[in-house]
Amino acid sequence: MTDRKEPTFRESVDLMFNRAVALMDLSPGLEEKIRVCNATYTVRFGVRLRGQIHTFTGYRSVHSEHMEPVKGGIRYSMAVHQDEVEALAALMTYKCALVEVPFGGSKGGLRIDPREWEEHELEQITRRFAYELIKRDLIHPAQNVPAPDMGTGEREMAWIADQYKRMATTDINYRGCVTGKPVNAGGIQGRTEATGRGVQYALQEFFRHPEDIAAAGLSGTLDGKRVIVQGLGNVGYHAAKFLSEEDGCKITAIIERDGALLDDTGLDVEAVRNWIARHGGVEGYPGGSFVREGAKVLEGACDILIPAALEGVINLENAERITAPLIIEAANGPITAGADEILRQKGTVIIPDMYANAGGVTVSYFEWVKNLSHIRFGRIGRRQEEARHQLIVNELERLNRGIGDAWDISPDFKQKYLRGAGELELVRSGLDDTMRTAYQAMREIWHGREDVTDLRTAAYLVAIARVAASYRAMGL
Ligand code: NAD
Repeated sequence: MTDRKEPTFRESVDLMFNRAVALMDLSPGLEEKIRVCNATYTVRFGVRLRGQIHTFTGYRSVHSEHMEPVKGGIRYSMAVHQDEVEALAALMTYKCALVEVPFGGSKGGLRIDPREWEEHELEQITRRFAYELIKRDLIHPAQNVPAPDMGTGEREMAWIADQYKRMATTDINYRGCVTGKPVNAGGIQGRTEATGRGVQYALQEFFRHPEDIAAAGLSGTLDGKRVIVQGLGNVGYHAAKFLSEEDGCKITAIIERDGALLDDTGLDVEAVRNWIARHGGVEGYPGGSFVREGAKVLEGACDILIPAALEGVINLENAERITAPLIIEAANGPITAGADEILRQKGTVIIPDMYANAGGVTVSYFEWVKNLSHIRFGRIGRRQEEARHQLIVNELERLNRGIGDAWDISPDFKQKYLRGAGELELVRSGLDDTMRTAYQAMREIWHGREDVTDLRTAAYLVAIARVAASYRAMGL
């Protein structure tokens, strides 16, 4: 236990920013310009529900408009407040810069517990919140494009897009006003899985670098690694599912709101997810053992810890007892600035949120491009690509016949090679490339500079330098 004061989430982001800019050569004016949040709009609106008027409070923060539109999710949670939204908006600015998504940073939140309301009530509330933001251009395809976050998903995004369409009847690009929509309502294949998929790609890239694996005191590949996941929501579920089904990881613990499940042989992610959907929590799940005090499980023995629920869960109180050698921040801000310092001193390797969960915004960018171009990726080129591959296969087969059928093209190769890439393959390929490239930019600084000893500082350095370059290009 320590008597040091825990910084707020916003102070944590500022502290981490300050640590990075101290290593840069920015003018104090530019440094301040990048750090501050440009604007936060607070709205209180009433909706008549269940025979009375309920007043809701919502926020939309714009951290940096060095590129437009600005981008960032909308969160539904009772814990939403201005400081949190501003911290998340700042993270969005740096995140977009790090993964070279040409957006500024924004974030929104509505103080509401979505579980307390029926679907039709949530629709009314969402449409009303969207109306307030749309009429101030805080939702707009060219200026501010929200996406899902905690407590929201494609259903809410579809309502928002429809609300925008009703209010901007002549905007041909109306679908680009929000991302994370259902595929049949202007969304893109692979968006729902994108953030969890990005976490998987981030870990795959990490494990391509022996020096980095050794820095975490690990060895080998992802295969067989013991993983603890906190939060089996959109991000945690997809990350855990892909890592266990495709990379051979063992999910040895899943921590949810009501407690945690433990199983050293590896939990069945799909089955646990279905159990939660039916029972509202993990308690009673027939496999593994249940522990009521979920937060304690964060301290358990594992190779990789994936906090994928909410911020501040690793803090001054428990940081010392966290034993995972590698933590990947799938959630935003799960490690406070104080805990970050303790963990760094212990030698824990942290793959920072700014990078680790950037898969969502990356595929949101693809969705927005798709909406503005009014055509699905792969639609024009796919069959032509297949026809060209067919030419090669035909030619190989002809040559083979010429030498008396001496070798055989395996049917598996033919099938894979002949298939042109559809939208999902293209999205995953673009996401994989983005995650690899951004990781390499971070690790170059991590290993290349004496004064940088962690990936988070490296991520901030890459991101801030890019934002600063944009401002300089504008003459600031
Ligand atoms: P979600 O609402 O789908 O899932 C959150 C999960 O965490 C739920 O299963 C919930 O029951 C669980 N949870 C809540 N409180 C908990 C607690 N105290 N202990 C354990 N589990 C708890 O949200 P999400 O979209 O998966 O977002 C999770 C995190 O990832 C957030 O920090 C969010 O900002 C971040 N994120 C999400 C996206 C995205 O595309 N959805 C993108 C980038 C970052």
